[in-house]
This record gives sequence, C-alpha cells and structure tokens, in this order.
Amino acid sequence: MSGRFDSLFADRLGALKDEGRYRVFADIERLAGRFPKALYRGSPDAAPVEVTVWCSNDYLGQGQHPAIIAAMQASAGRCGAGAGGTRNISGNSHELVELERELAAWHGKEAALTFTSGFVANEAALSVLARQIPGCIVFSDADNHASMIAGIRNSRAEYQIFRHNDVAHLRSLLAAAPADRPKLIAFESVYSMDGDIAPIGAICDLADEFGALTYLDEVHAVGLYGPQGAGVAARDGQAHRLDIIQGTLGKAFGLIGGYIAGSALLVDFVRSFAPGFIFTTALPPVIAAGARASLALLSAADDLRTAHQAQAGKLKTMLAKAGLPVLPSASHIVPVMVGDADSCREAAGLLLQRHRIYVQPINFPTVPRGTERLRFTPSPYHNDRLLSELVTALGAVWRELYLPIAA
Ligand SMILES: *Cc1c(COP(=O)(O)O)cnc(C)c1O
Repeated sequence: MSGRFDSLFADRLGALKDEGRYRVFADIERLAGRFPKALYRGSPDAAPVEVTVWCSNDYLGQGQHPAIIAAMQASAGRCGAGAGGTRNISGNSHELVELERELAAWHGKEAALTFTSGFVANEAALSVLARQIPGCIVFSDADNHASMIAGIRNSRAEYQIFRHNDVAHLRSLLAAAPADRPKLIAFESVYSMDGDIAPIGAICDLADEFGALTYLDEVHAVGLYGPQGAGVAARDGQAHRLDIIQGTLGKAFGLIGGYIAGSALLVDFVRSFAPGFIFTTALPPVIAAGARASLALLSAADDLRTAHQAQAGKLKTMLAKAGLPVLPSASHIVPVMVGDADSCREAAGLLLQRHRIYVQPINFPTVPRGTERLRFTPSPYHNDRLLSELVTALGAVWRELYLPIAA
C-alpha cells in the first residue's frame, strides 16, 4: 500500500510550489529576555544568526515576562507537567477553575470555558450551538477565520455569508430570513489580515432587532484594547450585548489555549455537549498558572497598550512617508501589500537573508489571490531604531524586486 498515493501528494505539492505559495517554516529559537530578537537557522545544522521577529502574535512580549515564567516554573514544581486527563476524568485542575472565573469576570460575563486552543474554542462552540439550536441560520462575516468556518460547517446548519463588516448587507440577509428561524451572527472584532475593526454596536443593534445570538471572536484584541485590556467590545461599551465572547491565550497572553465567555447557562451547554471540549485532555495547570499571571499583568498594562499603539502608529506613518504600500489599518496590525505570491515570498526571503528581519509572507488562502502581503506586528519592544531599520530594509528590497514605490 505504501507509496500508492505518493504521486498524488507530490503533484499537489508541486502545484503549490508552482504557484509560489508552498509554505516554508522558519526555524526560530525565541530568547527569553531578548524579545523581539530570536535565533534563526537556515537548516538544522546551520550556525544560528540573530534576527528581529516582525510577525509574532505575542503582541506585548508576554511570552517572555519573568513573572509569567516564574508562575509557570512554580506550578510545574508543584503540580507537575501535564493535566492528566480530560476535564471530566481527572483533568479539571484548580488553576483552570480559577482561570475561568477570572476570564469571566474580565469580560463581565457569568462564566467562561477554556479549550486547548482558540481554534478549538471556535470550532467546538460554534458547531455545537448552530447544530443544537433547531433550525438555526448562521450569519457569518466573509472574512471570518478558518476556525469559525470549520465550526459553522461542522454544525451542518444553514449559513449565509455577509460582506465583510457590511451592516447593510447583514441587515438585508437577516430581513430576508424567516422571522421564526433562530439566528446567530458570528464575527470578529479585529480582523488580523487587514487590521480593520468591526462595527460591533451596529451589529448588536441588528441582533436586537432580529432576535439573533451574537458570537464575537476577540482573538486579536484581548489584552490589547479597552479597559483592563478586555477587548474591543469592552472598549466600545458593547461587551454586555454579546452572547459569546471568544478569545485566545496564544496571542497577547503569550501562551496557548482558547476560551469562550458568556452566560452560565450557555457555557454549561457548550461544556456539556461540545465534543471538541469533552473528548480531549485539559490544558495543564502550568498553562493555566501562566495564563492567570498573564491576565493579572494585562489587566494593569495600560502603559504597554499605549506604547503598542504608538509603535504601530509610527510604523504606519514611516512606511507611508517612504512610499511603501501600507494599508491604513485601524489597529496594531500593519499590512504592506505586495500583490503576488512569488514577489511576496522573495521579499520575505531577502529581508531575512540580507537584513536579518523575519516576517512571514501571507499568501492565498489566508488572503485572497492578488492581495498577498507582508504583515508586521510591532510590539512595545520594537523601538524606534528597529522601526527605522525595518523601513530602510523594506525600501531596499522593494527597489531590488522592482516593486512599486509611491513618489
Ligand atoms: C489565531 C486565530 C484563532 C485561533 O486561535 P489559536 O489560539 O491560535 O488556535 C481564532 N480566530 C482568529 C481570528 C485567529 O486569528
């Protein structure tokens, strides 16, 4: 049997390579205490070189915070390495119970439930809600993350896609749907590829008008926006209007894991019926301990949030001044458009080889064809000198590849 599908696998991979969108993972070794510096190896045996990481989702450098590392070391010493089981069978650690209480309070919700990742949280929660609510129709933003799409598809519920952030289109779809069918609107706050932000209040108004449930993915916003960093819905004074707020512990928290927050009854429902929650080993106490330490720091990190926005704002201004095609994003995410997969990959390659700048090319299907881009995520630790180095390097790469620079 072995080898029977080899030519199929090889053909498919060859087609990806021909299109210039075969993914190559950079071999990166993060250095605690040196963020955003890391070691890069061109091959497993190559000598490591120091690079600046420009595409991390560890937006505030929490992954290396000494207090978080200390909390995790203490927890590992006390409770050991793993969780030991599913939540139902011996994996329900005290740290996790406390973490869920703290996450719920942070979002102003009655309850929260953790999952092994943000992807799993979206897949598990959306699939169980849309499947178990009889006749449910899901209204899904066109730019929703693959994990939300997976949950919606796996529910086998009917779904309709509204144009990205287009409230008028969403309204027309809601109005055209039968009034007696249950409805669920699924969307994100910060969209991580364009860096734009949803009109949360206007979408909640529609949900009120049409009696729809609201599900908001705040993965790229928790820790970064709003009072105590509780997200964009909190910033906009809308958090209480959302039925489910979903977040990750893998981005601004600097760890791994995901969660939902909502009413006690809804969370109990997901806990009791979602296979993606029930049939998998719980997050280990060491992760929960780190997440609790991270949450405490994030709740008090207004200074870091201010510096984060300041560095992102400066970078956008500097890129525009240099004539580089930066998208005018409304968030901390700084996309620079390239427009084809080959050039995007080449630009990232030159940045790494010549300038020791690591940024991953973003190609289809993560973004539509023709909108391939480099996506920069400056943190408070990307100081002004690093910003200048980046803009100079990008200018050189753009000229070398004959990519367009505005006059
Ligand atoms: C990264 C991401 C997720 C998944 O979160 P993980 O914790 O990385 O699994 C979900 N939604 C969006 C919008 C994301 O960008």
